[in-house]
Amino acid sequence: MFIDFTRFEENLGRVRDQIGRAAVAAGRPEDSVTLLPVTKNHPVDAAEYALRAGLAQVGENRVQEALSKMENGPEGLRWELIGPLQSNKAKRVAEQFYRVQSVDRPKVVNALQRHAAEAGRTLRVLLQVNAGRDPAKSGVSLEDAESLLELALGQGNLEVDGLMTIAPLDDDPNVARRSFAALRKCRDRLAQATGALLEELSMGMSGDLEAAILEGSTMVRIGTSLYGERQYE
Ligand SMILES: *Cc1c(COP(=O)(O)O)cnc(C)c1O
Repeated sequence: MFIDFTRFEENLGRVRDQIGRAAVAAGRPEDSVTLLPVTKNHPVDAAEYALRAGLAQVGENRVQEALSKMENGPEGLRWELIGPLQSNKAKRVAEQFYRVQSVDRPKVVNALQRHAAEAGRTLRVLLQVNAGRDPAKSGVSLEDAESLLELALGQGNLEVDGLMTIAPLDDDPNVARRSFAALRKCRDRLAQATGALLEELSMGMSGDLEAAILEGSTMVRIGTSLYGERQYE
């Protein structure tokens, strides 16, 4: 059974405390980290709870699931795609999502640009970087990130806000922390090379948000700590 709203509010309070403490430990203002509730694999109520609690955005992993929730769910949320995108879904994504955090190859850049232009809108994007060099994770390599960024910056209907990464799964917490540090350094290098600000660093999930905030995360993507275990993967 899915949690009720009261339980969600309790979880939200705990997650906000966790974020606040990590920000203070990092010497950063508490409001420098945005919370992105991840509603994937949960009923549409999960998005409704987020809106009711005053959150402005939610993250979804699968395009089809997100589109159906947009149709049946509450109005007024910004939807962010955090999962892999096939170019045959790029049209609906470019039309309906606020931002795509999983841009990791030229084909996706080109498809999103074309459909955003056709829809007459600007689509925000983050480049997903495989900062932990994890063979199991998608994301552009640290070496290829600059050329992908150059391509994305040249698109009239895409606005590149920054970078995103998913840390490798590892029992050693230092592995995640090192990959977050690598993403931050990658951002600093790319910002220097291109003049783009790249202010958004989307990194950190339920299990590793402290390490991510210590390394400069501006957005943590939280599912399990807010909504409980997912019913399926
Ligand atoms: C599922 C998912 C999350 C949330 O993970 P939790 O461990 O449940 O907090 C964050 N980011 C991405 C890309 C995801 O797919």
